[in-house]
Amino acid sequence: MSASGGTMWTSIFVILACFMPNALFEETKEHPTIGIVGGGIGGTSTAYFLRQLFGKNAKIDIFEKKQVGGRLVTTNIGDNEIEAGGTLIHPQNMYMVNFTKLLGLEQLSLGEGSFGIFDGSSMRIKSSKYRLATLAKLFWRYGMDIYNIDSWINDKLLSKFMRIYDIQRAGHAYTTVPDLIGAMDSSFVSYMKKSIKFVMKTSGFGDTFIDEMVMGALRTNYGQNTEIPGFVGAVSLAGVQPGLWAVKGGNKQVPQKLVSEAQAQVIPGTVVSVQLLQYEGKNYRVGYFDEEKKEQQKDYDIVVIATPLHDEVSDIDFEDFPSTIENFPQKFHRLTATFVEGKPNPKYYDVDDIADLPEAILTCNDTILVNSQDKKADVFGKPTDVYKFFSNTPPSEDDVKQMFTSKNDIRMVTAMAYPDYSTVGEELPPFVLHDQLYYVNAIELAASAMEMSSIAGKNVALLAYNHWHGNLDKIDEPFVDPLSEKDKTEL
Ligand SMILES: Cc1cc2nc3c(=O)[nH]c(=O)nc-3n(C[C@H](O)[C@H](O)[C@H](O)COP(=O)(O)OP(=O)(O)OC[C@H]3O[C@@H](n4cnc5c(N)ncnc54)[C@H](O)[C@@H]3O)c2cc1C
Repeated sequence: MSASGGTMWTSIFVILACFMPNALFEETKEHPTIGIVGGGIGGTSTAYFLRQLFGKNAKIDIFEKKQVGGRLVTTNIGDNEIEAGGTLIHPQNMYMVNFTKLLGLEQLSLGEGSFGIFDGSSMRIKSSKYRLATLAKLFWRYGMDIYNIDSWINDKLLSKFMRIYDIQRAGHAYTTVPDLIGAMDSSFVSYMKKSIKFVMKTSGFGDTFIDEMVMGALRTNYGQNTEIPGFVGAVSLAGVQPGLWAVKGGNKQVPQKLVSEAQAQVIPGTVVSVQLLQYEGKNYRVGYFDEEKKEQQKDYDIVVIATPLHDEVSDIDFEDFPSTIENFPQKFHRLTATFVEGKPNPKYYDVDDIADLPEAILTCNDTILVNSQDKKADVFGKPTDVYKFFSNTPPSEDDVKQMFTSKNDIRMVTAMAYPDYSTVGEELPPFVLHDQLYYVNAIELAASAMEMSSIAGKNVALLAYNHWHGNLDKIDEPFVDPLSEKDKTEL
């Protein structure tokens, strides 16, 4: 705990503590007050894990300036509710799988429909309605790469990635992102420094596969190209594997329900400052504007920042710290998601008949407007006539006219979506900004995804708990798994 404060206050505190009933003293030590800034999946999963670790008497507040869920959000178009932010969940994302079960929610499996890869003037490849014909086409174009990719993701990446669940179940936590990622497997740290193109080429994948399939996946999932680091590139490739799902009724229900599961109090308001307090008692003062735009403040033992520290996302001042805590310099990627209820123009993608237009279109040319387009089902899986396309710049009216022959309704959402990975250097922000001041979204500089936020949430909860109780042997120490096979259903 931070003990920077005047000696007078320290002495008064020590004298008072001598006269305080023991139970009262223990109450303060055992049950911290915790303020979390941000009610997305990162902040709410942190609250859930903190509650599990600290027990029922800890006080947990979550400050949220918009809506709980953050980037897990839906949009209404026509009569349909459609996922507008984080959508796809991998079958082996164990925290998201377990949250869904625990919260009484259901998985909605996202069917594997027809697909094509467009290069700006024609389709490089298009699936057939016959599975065998599609496999033959893929084999003809990409050779063995199309078979090797699954085992590469499963054996080289996922099986190592999954180690994090055992590590965290054993209570181990890490103060930096490379240490956390490196605890899964040391090769992952080098993947954070080399491009996905380089990593895959040295693993034996060919140029055509990388320039089309991998590029298509990266443009769909992050709006970026094959120069982004290998680790986030690999997370993105897992996002096009079979078995993907979403939460029936909307992914945002997970953070919403985690708030009550964590018995946390949501404080609607915009946090503008975190001040290091110069006296004993509480460590931090959180300054915020409430819903009536009135300035308020609350003091805490522990503060968790669960939103990207970036000027254009959440501008928070850190006051009275011995060294400056700045917003981090990495750029954020601005993305536009356009939802159109209507009929797409197949000619835009060089397809003659609308019946032959693939439901999911990836693009492999980063000079064109559209990153990807797909036909959407609503949040309950009901088919709709809504198409969503992503672009790095908002489309003009003329673009939409060329892409759709008719439209009943249109919604456009432009947002700071995730880091611009080409600007992420080797200096990553830490999970620990100061004693008992933690930063969940440091993880996003390695890869932005719901499961990554949940893993970071658990890491931060463990750091807070281990620091509070002095369990330093569980921080930044190598993990040796005593049992290899365990019940993985426990969160
Ligand atoms: C278009 C899009 C598609 C995506 N697709 C996928 C996908 O398919 N699969 C996947 O796993 N991931 C996907 N992601 C990424 C995923 O959505 C994010 O990684 C994840 O939701 C981040 O959660 P978070 O809690 O860390 O941040 P956020 O969800 O951004 O939560 C931060 C919260 O903090 C609040 N806040 C910010 N500043 C303040 C302040 N000063 N005071 C109070 N509150 C504040 C915000 O309002 C917000 O609610 C996608 C993201 C986008 C944008």
